[in-house]
Amino acid sequence: MSENYQRPDRSARKCKYGWFDKWDRLINGALSLVGTPKIELAPGELAMDPHIHTLFSHCSITQPQDAIIRAVKIGLGAVCVMDHNSIKGALDAERCAQDLKARGIIPEDFLVIPGIEINSDRGHIGAMFLREDIPMELTPAEALQAIHDAGGIAVAVHPYHSTGIGDAVFDAPFDAVEVECGSVFGSALVSKNSALTSDPRLENCAKFGSSDAHYIRAIGACYTILTLDEPTLEGVRNAIIERKSRAVSTQPYLKMRKLLGGVRKLR
Ligand SMILES: [Zn+2]
Ligand SMILES: [Zn+2]
Repeated sequence: MSENYQRPDRSARKCKYGWFDKWDRLINGALSLVGTPKIELAPGELAMDPHIHTLFSHCSITQPQDAIIRAVKIGLGAVCVMDHNSIKGALDAERCAQDLKARGIIPEDFLVIPGIEINSDRGHIGAMFLREDIPMELTPAEALQAIHDAGGIAVAVHPYHSTGIGDAVFDAPFDAVEVECGSVFGSALVSKNSALTSDPRLENCAKFGSSDAHYIRAIGACYTILTLDEPTLEGVRNAIIERKSRAVSTQPYLKMRKLLGGVRKLR
């Protein structure tokens, strides 16, 4: 028997904006027009979206349950829930996945990796494989120490983005770096992130693609292919440490980027 999972209600959710429901519908509607990500894998590979948000972030109203079912539907094998400055979303999503498995709604081997996205004094930093909060406003070096002390994996999320840590990506020992990110659209920023793929200063970092999805239809917009021995949390962790990863941008994201680039040119 599974424990009784209850979908978090409005009072549990961090997003207090009354207009956000309409905005969420509008963005999901636009995203459905650009299509659904197609995920293609070879044997021994797993597709992971290492950075998604739920209603435990102030800027999302996505139910963990809906996010997990969507991720399974498009062919992801793993997601990491990384809500802003709160581990609550990750812990809720873990319980939700257990319940969905017990009810036979999602496969037993689908992985929900607990994570958090924290505000450091330089910008956003992600952490995977941890089940506790990390304090805000630390320096990147201090944040990474706290993440590693807690047994987590430190991710430089969208380094070049208005909320990213920028060049501080080179100053701390990150385990992984997002080189393709579904929330980055400006062409200069896109190029700077993707140039990190071959930057020798980050040769010890796994390279990630992530959606940074705040809307359900954005899940999997960019994702990471891992080569691994077994599709378990331990297998994923080892693949990241051994840098057996590569970043993928899907057609819907590339279309969206083109559209938004066009809008910018019109202005
Ligand atoms: Zn962020
Ligand atoms: Zn994020």
